[in-house]
Amino acid sequence: MHTKQCRHCGYTGKPVHDEYSSLLIDLFVWGFCLTAAVITFDPYIALLAVLVTLWHAATFRSHRCPRCGEWDMHRVHESDSTLGIGH
Ligand SMILES: [Zn+2]
Repeated sequence: MHTKQCRHCGYTGKPVHDEYSSLLIDLFVWGFCLTAAVITFDPYIALLAVLVTLWHAATFRSHRCPRCGEWDMHRVHESDSTLGIGH
């Protein structure tokens, strides 16, 4: 995994993936929305679960800062020594 730097707090290092927590959230949302849709006979509630899944699919492979949790991390090139990390 490439070293990345957080634009928000300046953390430099390995970002974390949000994949497993996203799957758990998806399962929770689907269970909740389908149950609510059955109870209220309102199929549009199930659309909420679809929207959440679409949003997670868009951010599934995103990298996240382990320090502040921001999504905005960009790759630090190996040749870029101006950051002073690892030297
Ligand atoms: Zn950060």
